[in-house]
Amino acid sequence: MESNVRVRFAPSPTGPLHIGGVRTALYNYLFAKKHNGTFVLRIEDTDQTRYVANAEQYIIDALEWCAIPFDEGPGKNEKFGPYRQSERKDLYKKYADQLIGTGWAYYAFDSSEELDAHRKQHEAEGKTFIYNWHNREKGRLVNSLVLSDDEVQQRINSGEKFVVRFKTPQDETLILEDEIRGTIKIDTNTLDDKILFKSDGMPTYHLANIVDDHLMEISHVIRGEEWLPSLPLHSLLYRAFGWESPKFAHLPLILKPVGKGKLSKRDGDKLGFPVFPLEYTNEVNGDVSCGYKEDGYFADAFINMLAFLGWNPGTEQEIFSLEELVKTFDLKRVSKSGAKFSPDKTKWFNQQYMQSKPDEELTDLYLPILAEKGIIAEKDYVQKVVSSVKERAIFIQDFWGLSSFFFVSPKEYDGKNVKKNWKEGTPELMKELIDIINSIEDFSSENTEKEIKEWISGKEIGFGKVMQPLRLSLVGKLAGPHLFDIIAMIGKEETIKRLENAIEKL
Ligand code: GLU
Repeated sequence: MESNVRVRFAPSPTGPLHIGGVRTALYNYLFAKKHNGTFVLRIEDTDQTRYVANAEQYIIDALEWCAIPFDEGPGKNEKFGPYRQSERKDLYKKYADQLIGTGWAYYAFDSSEELDAHRKQHEAEGKTFIYNWHNREKGRLVNSLVLSDDEVQQRINSGEKFVVRFKTPQDETLILEDEIRGTIKIDTNTLDDKILFKSDGMPTYHLANIVDDHLMEISHVIRGEEWLPSLPLHSLLYRAFGWESPKFAHLPLILKPVGKGKLSKRDGDKLGFPVFPLEYTNEVNGDVSCGYKEDGYFADAFINMLAFLGWNPGTEQEIFSLEELVKTFDLKRVSKSGAKFSPDKTKWFNQQYMQSKPDEELTDLYLPILAEKGIIAEKDYVQKVVSSVKERAIFIQDFWGLSSFFFVSPKEYDGKNVKKNWKEGTPELMKELIDIINSIEDFSSENTEKEIKEWISGKEIGFGKVMQPLRLSLVGKLAGPHLFDIIAMIGKEETIKRLENAIEKL
């Protein structure tokens, strides 16, 4: 049964979603699912100057790849829609008017030049200019708190530009509750009178966000730490409207691998890891940023890694399926302090998932890579290859380097090891070996091993004298799985062909 838990992920479509944003979406999703609640996607696109057209689709695609779909949002179960703020813009004005009517907000006519001048003058005196209780009624600032009603009306009627500001109460200590951080106390005299409604007729983030959270019946606001400074205003807005406030939880920052400072795209570029879930092409300059998906990460490994960036289950267990995360996730176990991102740990998660994924699933991922190389192989054969190399792979793209010799003969031979192991008598020995191989009937790994080893023992020479050149002939280097498994897989004809090749080339 659905509960009244309703959470939202409310990104602004200003570019690709950073992994911090995906983590916010994930925690919202986990919290919603854990409580049989609803996960809403709301696109906060009121700031037209920062709007990027392909960003919304990117966000939707990213959530889909991560398998954390929203229950309500643009184009889906639009019960409280529309879910794009730009399509709701006519709605906000009335709420700004309501606050003016109740004395919680006021018109301000100060031009940006005038405000700049105030700022500069304050700076010159070593002070910071804040538009609030301190100066809003002193007469130097032009607003409806000092102008007569008639004058205000006249200015508005004559088309003068204005904004609507929130009238922050004076001399009050706000006691705010955060689900992660506990009680936070704020002196209202330190707050500025934030703009709620802009001169372009659009609400600011603050007004639209609160109105929508209320209208969409959001019960818990789970968002990044960067929004904590907005909490006093948001909580005052609920009071001003007379609405019940949702509960708030501010998630810790994701820090650079060195531990200090917020993780940025530049850190990723420098250390060679993606900070975006999917590849992203910048609409304006065509720049392409890499993504976890294209870099070969499994979505479930990526999500598992992200879940641990700021949360832990309090046990040793690290590998969690999405269902297990839903069961185990608890805001109480989200930490207050920043979570250090580790590219190595991220790879480790991928490797763990690689080992636990069924061979068949990995085979389906490998087949197209083989096809691209012009290799058509039986699925059963590829599956055997996958099972023998996967323990050494982190990504599917590693498979080819680890297994090409199962499909094609080596193009080159490792020079250093050829020098060391391909000696004067080796070609003769390999020719003899070809005869032995030719005579083997049961070409299973166990039997070829038995027969070839018997032959070597009979000749009273060291195993290495045969095994190393044999491996070089088949693989091109001294690496790879058990040699007799390779022989059994590629078969008698191919084994002999590769030996003949090596005799000719080395
Ligand atoms: N639109 C804000 C953002 O881009 C949402 C902040 C919030 O969740 O309240 O992150």
